[in-house]
Amino acid sequence: MKHFELAEWTDFVRGLVEKSARLPMEHHLASGCRKCRHTADLLRKLVTAARNDSQVQVPDYALRCARAVFLLQQPEKIQILCQRACSTTVSANPCPQVSAPSSA
Ligand SMILES: [Zn+2]
Repeated sequence: MKHFELAEWTDFVRGLVEKSARLPMEHHLASGCRKCRHTADLLRKLVTAARNDSQVQVPDYALRCARAVFLLQQPEKIQILCQRACSTTVSANPCPQVSAPSSA
């Protein structure tokens, strides 16, 4: 049984697949492939949620504030040597291994 790729299912649930490609996918789902059914169902929920979110109108003042905060607080790339002597690049937020209270 040939399964379809995630990108194909994504286009399928978004209605972007032409009928000639859509029919084999519908037949595949109808054949009972649980793996692809699960993928298609999950993507349908995702597309529905994304479409619902796109209906939200963010007020202009909120966009202006978010842009201003982002410009002032762009995350820095810094090097922190963790206690385990691992080198980790993190944002300006402290490394949890460094900031956690020491139990030793
Ligand atoms: Zn399949």
